[in-house]
Amino acid sequence: MKKLSRAIYQMLLTLWSVLKSLTITFLYFWRKKVTVQYPEERLEHPPRFRTLVDVDVSKCIACGICQRVCPSDVIKIEVWKVKEGDKETSKPRSFILDLGRCMGCGLCAEHCPTAAIRMTQEYELADYSREALIRRRS
Ligand code: SF4
Ligand code: SF4
Repeated sequence: MKKLSRAIYQMLLTLWSVLKSLTITFLYFWRKKVTVQYPEERLEHPPRFRTLVDVDVSKCIACGICQRVCPSDVIKIEVWKVKEGDKETSKPRSFILDLGRCMGCGLCAEHCPTAAIRMTQEYELADYSREALIRRRS
């Protein structure tokens, strides 16, 4: 008798959990879908969303501030001096960004006096080698 009542109890418990899960499934079936079918569908990013850096070398005055403030040693600038009339100005000969090291902190963009370096919203950066993540701008 004890065995029978235990079996009935187990059966009712199983039935209850099946009904409970089916109810949840049924309720979710009618709700608004939240799954995004990436990459066909994409979420819209908030305006302040940021990932990695990029630079507009035409605005860069090769002051080197970004290079000095970067905590991850991402930025390498080769500077050359250009004579404009009797004035000598600095320009970047090459601007190298090792994006594999960038943690997107934004310090470089915050300190740049000409807004040449900026944070981007680019996020599909997976690659097969670290070398492929090195970007040269000139
Ligand atoms: S975002 Fe941060 S880690 Fe990336 S280059 Fe700028 S300062 Fe360096
Ligand atoms: S801080 Fe701005 S202007 Fe100065 S070197 Fe970096 S990108 Fe160029």
